[in-house]
Amino acid sequence: MNATVISKNTPNTMNTFADLGLSPRILRALEDAKYKTPPPIQAKAIPLLLDGKDLLGVAQTGTGKTAAFVLPILNRGAARIEDSQPRPQPKHGHALIVAPTRELAAQIADSIRTYGKHVRPSVAVIVGGLKPGPQIKAMARGVDVIVATPGRLMDHMSTGAIKLDQIQTVVLDEADQMMDLGFLPAIRKIMARLPRDRQV
Ligand code: AMP
Repeated sequence: MNATVISKNTPNTMNTFADLGLSPRILRALEDAKYKTPPPIQAKAIPLLLDGKDLLGVAQTGTGKTAAFVLPILNRGAARIEDSQPRPQPKHGHALIVAPTRELAAQIADSIRTYGKHVRPSVAVIVGGLKPGPQIKAMARGVDVIVATPGRLMDHMSTGAIKLDQIQTVVLDEADQMMDLGFLPAIRKIMARLPRDRQV
């Protein structure tokens, strides 16, 4: 992966959400949430992500990192609705977000619902500690976004309940913590099942 790296030292030239190039459906949801301006991680990351770049973002918790990767994913969803592109096929997703804990996965899914209010993406939360049956059912028709912890995702990949070969965008949230928790072998296996031309 040849990723652009952004951090607090990267200059910031974007001051409003409209400057970033987001769809009106997303701008409306941000207005509803009373978000006025993008914090640095969003201002720096979103234009690059909308441009299809691979990116490694370094930012502390609480700085608005989630929206920095969720908004570009939703923007693609908005484009899909507006251009009437095909929805994901059964058992497939268009975007995959991998997180180290189920609490974080649940928070990400909440953010997707908030920012995606006018895009209304389908979301499956695939985490350990819950029965697999409802997760299999959630994936049956295919979803826009899969939010998953690595272990349970691998379980569903091995039974064929989840297929990753139509994923267009993958996010590894809190990648450093996932490495600390020993998820590197799982992440490698997950990445190996994605199409070659995905955005990371
Ligand atoms: P995070 O770093 O993703 O955990 O986000 C921290 C908090 O900042 C969350 O409660 C978000 O709702 C909030 N937030 C994210 N983006 C913005 C924004 N542009 N303006 C105001 N609040 C925001």
